[in-house]
Amino acid sequence: MIRDLLKQKRGSVSFEVFPPKRDGNLENVKSCVDRLAKLSPDFISVTYGANGGGGKNYTMEIAEHVKKCGVRPLAHLTATGHTQRQIKTILDSLEEKNLLSVLALRGDMPLEDADEDGICDFNYASDLVRFIRHYKGEKFEICGACYPEGHIDCDCLESDVENLRRKVDEGADFLISQLFFENNIFFEFLDLIKKKNINIPIIAGIMPALNAKQIIHILSLCNAKFPKKFSRILAKYEEKPEALFDAGVAFATEQVIDLLAAEIDGIHIYTMNRPEVAERIHANILQVIM
Ligand SMILES: Cc1cc2nc3c(=O)[nH]c(=O)nc-3n(C[C@H](O)[C@H](O)[C@H](O)COP(=O)(O)OP(=O)(O)OC[C@H]3O[C@@H](n4cnc5c(N)ncnc54)[C@H](O)[C@@H]3O)c2cc1C
Repeated sequence: MIRDLLKQKRGSVSFEVFPPKRDGNLENVKSCVDRLAKLSPDFISVTYGANGGGGKNYTMEIAEHVKKCGVRPLAHLTATGHTQRQIKTILDSLEEKNLLSVLALRGDMPLEDADEDGICDFNYASDLVRFIRHYKGEKFEICGACYPEGHIDCDCLESDVENLRRKVDEGADFLISQLFFENNIFFEFLDLIKKKNINIPIIAGIMPALNAKQIIHILSLCNAKFPKKFSRILAKYEEKPEALFDAGVAFATEQVIDLLAAEIDGIHIYTMNRPEVAERIHANILQVIM
C-alpha cells in the first residue's frame, strides 16, 4: 500500500492522469498510463469528474489499467453529488476490483451532478473520510487533499488547516497538495501543519506550466501565486509552444529537485495526460531519485 511505502522512503515520485470526457478516447488515456508506467512511479492517481470531464465511470477502469501495468493506483472519489448509498456501491466495486487506495475529496461538481432529488449526504471531505473508515475500516487507505496557499473557499490559511485537521483526525493516511509554484510557500505550510500536530506524509503536487491559457484557467480555480520570473517567460514565448514546453519542464524540474533536496515525503506530477512532460522531468531527475 502507498501508506506503507511512504513510511519506508522519502521522496516518492508519482503521477496524476484524468479520464476522458464522456465521449473521449479511453484508449489514449490507457496509452498515456502505459508510458507513465515505464518510468516506474510509486503510484499513479486517476481523477474523478475533474477537469470538466464527465468520465466518472472511467476512473475505476483506468485505475484497473494502472494496476495491470504493475503500478499502484490511487482512485480519486468525490463526495459532492453522491448519497451514502451511492458511495457504498462505489466502495464495494472498488473492493471487488481490489482497488483499495482512495483519494477522498469533497469535489467541485455543479449541482446538476447531484442525484435526482438533489441529495448529497456529505458536506466536506472529512465526512467522506469518516464514512469510508466506518464502512471499510483499515482495508482501504485514504488520501486527502491539502492547500499550501489555503483553499479558495476559506478565509484564511489557519482555519483551512484547522479544517484539514478534521480530515486527518477522521483517518486520512497521507495528503497530496494543490499545485504551487513557489517552494517556500510549501515549506512554510509544512512548518504550519507540524505546529498543528498533523504528522502524516504530505506529497507536493507539481503542475508543469506549459501554456498561458492553461495557467490563467488554473489560477482562477485556486489561490496559487505565480512567480514574476515565469510570467515573463509566458509572455515572451506565448506564441512558441515548443519554447514554452522547454521552459515549463525546466521550471518544474528545478522545483522538484529543490523539494527532493529538502527531503519531503514525495512529489506528485499533474501530467495533464501528457506523458512526454513526465518523461522529460523524469529524465532530468534520474540521478536525483536513484
Ligand atoms: C490533490 C488534489 C486532487 C483533486 N482531485 C479532484 C478530482 O479528482 N475531482 C474533482 O472534482 N476535484 C478534485 N480536486 C479539487 C477538489 O475537489 C476541490 O479543491 C474542492 O473544492 C475541495 O475538495 P477537498 O476534498 O479539499 O474539500 P474539503 O477538505 O472538504 O475542504 C473544502 C473547503 O471546506 C472547508 N472545510 C472543510 N471542513 C470544514 C468544516 N468542518 N467546517 C467548515 N469548513 C470546512 C475547507 O477549509 C475548504 O475551504 C482535487 C484537488 C487536489 C488538491
